[in-house]
Amino acid sequence: MDVEQFRKAGYAAIDQICDYYSSIEQRDVKSLVKPGYLLDQLSTTPPTKGEDFPAIAADFQRLVMPGITHWQHPKFFAYFPSTVTFESILGDMYSSAVSNPGFNWACSPACTELEQVVMEWMVTVLGLDDVFRTSSGKGGGIIGTSASDMCLTAAIAARERALRVLARDHHQVNGTATPTEGPTDVPYSVRSENTKRLVMYGSTQTHSIGVKTALLLGLTFRTLPVKSADGYALRGDLLKAAIEEDIKKGFVPFFVIGTVGTTSSGAVDYIGDIGEVVHQYPTMFLHIDAAWAGMAWALPEQREALRLAEVNKYGDSVCTNAHKWGLVGFDCSLFFVRDRRDLTEALDVTPTYLRTKEADAGAVIDYRNWQLALGRRFRSVKLWFVMRGYGVEGLQAHLRNGISLCSDLVSEVAKDAKFEIVAPPRLGLLCFRLLKDGASASELDKLNVELHTRLAERPDVHLTQTILKSEDRGEIFCIRFAIGALRTTKQDVEEVWDEVVKESDRLVLEGNQVTN
Ligand SMILES: *Cc1c(COP(=O)(O)O)cnc(C)c1O
Repeated sequence: MDVEQFRKAGYAAIDQICDYYSSIEQRDVKSLVKPGYLLDQLSTTPPTKGEDFPAIAADFQRLVMPGITHWQHPKFFAYFPSTVTFESILGDMYSSAVSNPGFNWACSPACTELEQVVMEWMVTVLGLDDVFRTSSGKGGGIIGTSASDMCLTAAIAARERALRVLARDHHQVNGTATPTEGPTDVPYSVRSENTKRLVMYGSTQTHSIGVKTALLLGLTFRTLPVKSADGYALRGDLLKAAIEEDIKKGFVPFFVIGTVGTTSSGAVDYIGDIGEVVHQYPTMFLHIDAAWAGMAWALPEQREALRLAEVNKYGDSVCTNAHKWGLVGFDCSLFFVRDRRDLTEALDVTPTYLRTKEADAGAVIDYRNWQLALGRRFRSVKLWFVMRGYGVEGLQAHLRNGISLCSDLVSEVAKDAKFEIVAPPRLGLLCFRLLKDGASASELDKLNVELHTRLAERPDVHLTQTILKSEDRGEIFCIRFAIGALRTTKQDVEEVWDEVVKESDRLVLEGNQVTN
């Protein structure tokens, strides 16, 4: 493709994208193609000769689009929203146009410095403490791929920090010299023995990224229970008891994930209490996973409920995804640390071919030393475009719209005695289940699995399920209604809820006929 062909194909692509968005509500939200639908239609061998672009683009429409579930659809209420805006799409175009791996400041100075600027903005937008600003010289922010990657990154930083503390103890006990700064070398055998003792903590409501991080690092993850009476939030006293028990057994606590807005129900862990516990153990590190709910810190009226002051006081690292509710297309995970040396001391490995005079002089940031990979996408452009296009007020209006639509739905559901709101609704998320007179817990679970199965078979409704697990109520199967797409209106919510009600009525009626 030459420049003129690109110009033509590019205009045509923009036209198709515009057509897609101007009629998206006429589509079904969910793709119901069968597994293998595309595998069966595409050649298993790569083309030998190049093809003309119009033919390729036509195949995208004809073959790929039927297998797309429309996350930007106004009736998308599954999982969590994954919003994208035109500003963000354009940002991706520009960043692709100058495609470069941005691992060093010297790769393309703008890639590093624009990221510094927008992450500085996001500290302000979200109300995070000044220590998380890169300009503080102490902490800093970086844009990564996903909350999963950032949790792994945080855990590695935490592991190395804990191992340094243990190494210092080792030197003290053995009377060997202890370096005060930087890596504290100990014999391999000591490092490996210490590593084996490390334990991570989270609750049954912590996202699976917690357990996965432990798996990847070959470390132990201890899952703590929560109570429905606490709104499914993890408490500090429970963490404290678990840590004490583990220390008695010779383990070393090193990492806890405090969640602000759990995936199942939007619960907010008791970050202040957890932080107080973490402060008592020099090997401990508190990572705040606010992947979905953290963007709502942009709303001053939500900050207290989302425990922002506690996060600011105690969080060693904080992650929130601008690519969920925050108008920026996947991927754009915002990750802030209180002390960036936690990252660089774990991740800075600089061979000669990566050395630059700017970095040697300490004049610039090389983000490769703050992350796992070497290369990185130029993600700051899309965030910059979105923040400039929307302004803080535009972002706030979008978030408030989702919250207000959800609170209208909550009032509606609360009025209907045949439904139960299973966990306290949070922001744009509601967990509910269908009730039935005289039904046992397991019958209710069966009823709701059936309701969800029926809804899942429909292309016009897209809601996901969860099992809420607590000490006081056991396991409860429920259905999540997650609001936050850019184009969702009150009517969209009402229409989908009507379908849920109708499907529920049919189910209860059929059940009664069977039992009679
Ligand atoms: C979505 C979500 C994640 C995972 O996010 P990725 O960016 O896809 O890795 C983790 N934790 C919470 C609380 C989430 O809502």
